[in-house]
Amino acid sequence: MTDYRSYRIAFDEKELLVDRKLGSLRKDFLRDYCGHFNTLTDKQIWQSGLYRFCHFLPKGADLHVHCLACMPVKQTAAWAASVPGMHIHTGSLPGRGSLRVFSPGDTIPPEYVPYTGKEISEEELEKLWSTEGYNGTGSIWEWFETIFDRHLFATSDDIVLSYYKAVFDYYLSLGIQEVELRLLPFGTPEVAAQTARAIRKAYYEAAAAHPGFCVKLIGSGLKYAWIEPSMTESMLRNAAYIHENVKDELLGEDFMVAIDLVNEEDRSNDISFYAPMLKAITGEHPSLDMVLHCGESLHPGSRSMEDAMALGPRRIGHGYDLYRHPGLEKIIMEKDIPLEVCPVSNMSLKYISDVREHPARKYYSQGIPMVLASDDPAFQEHENMTDDFFIAAAAWEFSLSDLKRLAFNSIKYCSASPATKNSLLEEWTKRWNDFVLQNI
Ligand SMILES: [Zn+2]
Repeated sequence: MTDYRSYRIAFDEKELLVDRKLGSLRKDFLRDYCGHFNTLTDKQIWQSGLYRFCHFLPKGADLHVHCLACMPVKQTAAWAASVPGMHIHTGSLPGRGSLRVFSPGDTIPPEYVPYTGKEISEEELEKLWSTEGYNGTGSIWEWFETIFDRHLFATSDDIVLSYYKAVFDYYLSLGIQEVELRLLPFGTPEVAAQTARAIRKAYYEAAAAHPGFCVKLIGSGLKYAWIEPSMTESMLRNAAYIHENVKDELLGEDFMVAIDLVNEEDRSNDISFYAPMLKAITGEHPSLDMVLHCGESLHPGSRSMEDAMALGPRRIGHGYDLYRHPGLEKIIMEKDIPLEVCPVSNMSLKYISDVREHPARKYYSQGIPMVLASDDPAFQEHENMTDDFFIAAAAWEFSLSDLKRLAFNSIKYCSASPATKNSLLEEWTKRWNDFVLQNI
């Protein structure tokens, strides 16, 4: 019986051969590729042997992805074109490229036309719906948030269900076994719970066709300084309501597993500002964890890592600037609190100009626990998770053994119950062994 707690990452002769293959694919890529691989928008990257290798590598789980930002442009466009009533804004910016669903009888603004997938070219959508479209005016985060505004299509539970069915099918096509979605639980508790039920329904349908697939939610409040604290509290309380009332009946465990605070950290209130709120809610709901975004900062004086760590989180979202807090590195290792490292997101949002210098490379070699995750693949990636593993393989020159550990960690640190983790691990081990045999 597989047990993730006693699982030892072994590396055999066959894997050594595949590791050699990885080394040679990397060498070929670095020799042939003339561009700057800090942006993964070049077809030459996607067509490379190294990228294909990362595509097929069994990557386990995606523990950090935001709701409504889950599928790359091509997949989002294909899904949107299939939705009855979907319209696209064909006027000028900032609205251009916005998707909205209108029902019969609605007043439709003249710039919106029915969307069939042809109204705006895929090349233009690649810019309008991703960080590639940022033209240097204002901050990258301002542009990034306009992309979210272009995707405010989830106006009914039916659309939520349809979107997540497409999302989970897409994740399954990539071989991802578990997905943890950061949900913004707006509205009344029951409205938020209905959204969660629609996502759960999509998950159940995906799991019926692919037994073993698993989805969890992490309820996220907004922490921008201009957001009323009462609004943040209502979102976190909605998360707690979902935690109590919308369970994963398929596995007999929690569906909403944790709370978090999101937004651009450097324009937000300190996490310590919300500490009483976070403590009160998790105190009232002891099985609800904290998984906290922090350390996603360009400010040398940022204390978000300390603030978050003081709250006892189960995982850290990003933890990019951990190097500024050497005292915390030891505590993170002792307490085994993993960082959800999102290298593509960090480079897309310009936290680092050269991804080869990403601090996670050093964190990993120090033994700091971590996983790789995609964050906002819709707006940042060509293929969820593949891009992040590609960065680890190409830019950080990680070995197959390192990639194996990162994939294993995604299961070890996911939010499923121990029994579910063991099932996920058993399946992942099979897939890993097949991958090795196919690459000898
Ligand atoms: Zn995030």
